Amino acid sequence: MLYFTIESSSGDKDYEVVAVREGDGVRMSCECDAASNGMHCKHRINLLTGTPKEQKLTSGNPADVAVLRQWIVGTPLEMALSTVVEMEREAEALKARLSKAKKVLGLALATGQMSR
Ligand SMILES: [Zn+2]
Repeated sequence: MLYFTIESSSGDKDYEVVAVREGDGVRMSCECDAASNGMHCKHRINLLTGTPKEQKLTSGNPADVAVLRQWIVGTPLEMALSTVVEMEREAEALKARLSKAKKVLGLALATGQMSR
């Protein structure tokens, strides 16, 4: 069993994250609202991807993050995590393209001309 505390995005509190190895998977709990509502949360994803950089690892145990990552190597959980990480990357790229396309449209509507 591994214990972590991660600072919330707002920095005003810490969330406790507990990881338990079960079979070839890992059960993880987090005290945040998303996890409490049965959703995935960035605190657990960041720990699983080994990048708890957005929020501070206030438990000060980066070696345990490495242990957690080792637990999921080659498991279906690792595949599910990869899918989410890849889709988030695609969503970010799509958001950037959408933003550019909206600027082009906004300019076209404001000027009556299409920029080339
Ligand atoms: Zn969380």
